[in-house]
Amino acid sequence: MSGIRPTGFLHLGNYFGALRNFVRMQEEYPCFFMVADLHALTTHPDTKELKTNIHRVLAEHIACGLDPDKAALYCQSHVFETSELYLYLNMLAYKGELEKTTTFKDKARLQPDNINAGLLTYPVLQAADILLHRAALVPVGKDQEQHLEMSRTYVNRFNHRYGEVFPEPFAFNYGEQLVKVPSLDGAGKMSKSENQNATLYLSDTDKLILDKVKKAKTDSGPTVPNSVKPDYIENIFLLMKLVSKEEVIKKFEDDYNNCTIRYGDMKKQLGEDMVNFIAPIREKAEAIRNDEKYLKAVMEKGADKARTSAKATMALVREAMGLIYY
Ligand code: ATP
Repeated sequence: MSGIRPTGFLHLGNYFGALRNFVRMQEEYPCFFMVADLHALTTHPDTKELKTNIHRVLAEHIACGLDPDKAALYCQSHVFETSELYLYLNMLAYKGELEKTTTFKDKARLQPDNINAGLLTYPVLQAADILLHRAALVPVGKDQEQHLEMSRTYVNRFNHRYGEVFPEPFAFNYGEQLVKVPSLDGAGKMSKSENQNATLYLSDTDKLILDKVKKAKTDSGPTVPNSVKPDYIENIFLLMKLVSKEEVIKKFEDDYNNCTIRYGDMKKQLGEDMVNFIAPIREKAEAIRNDEKYLKAVMEKGADKARTSAKATMALVREAMGLIYY
């Protein structure tokens, strides 16, 4: 189970942190993937763009290889049981620990005039999304690690107080470390709502991709052989590892170690490889995005599957909590 917020255009971080694993997991597990529209309201209260954003994010999921006939692909707000479980879990979440969450502190800094209760209890809603399907594996990027730890805390409190209902969920990336795709300016991660000029979006035109990569932060190159790379150079190599061929990466690694690297050439190569990676996804998503009839069918089918799973879980939850009175 996993989700992505419809807060803007999907980017390379969403792909390598989340979507890539969704596509692989749908072949091996029963999967639930949702567009997290309720989560979006905590930071984006203006809903004018929401429908367009939801349609685009769904189209981008499908363009990346997600098959709505294999996995349940649905909209969070279409499954009302989410809100019921969120309410119960809120009684197991404490204000002090919520206030200490890194994402809460970051977001609160960004929107000092709108530090709403939804923002504070974001990890509780996220736990509800996951536990609603009693999911154990959650394909997410590194930025979500702390939230998953909080989900496990709520599972343990619930199971301890009311009896074993939920498995502990863990962040998942096919046995590898969780991914953080860095932004091109070397400051933070690629993101839908922040660092937009330094983020590569799956909808960027070829020209925009080349321009952004060209502007990535570099320097005049190493002067000492085999020296440690500064973070922003390490990031460029990391991005290259996501989309370029091994021999290409090796050539630039050797050039770096021999102090003969030309960052202009490296960025040109990276730009071209990024274009080759992103362009087919962009073109597919553009074709799907405007097919409202198809997207409606996808959402209905996904919500049906998600509701069936949610209803089964909620029956267990209400029974365990003693909320059945006749
Ligand atoms: P926003 O900027 O609106 O907070 P976001 O780009 O951080 O959005 P989310 O919707 O919060 O994206 O996250 C969707 C998924 O993408 C999560 O699994 C998250 O871990 C992953 N993700 C987001 N950014 C990155 C990144 N730069 N590297 C790796 N994974 C990422």
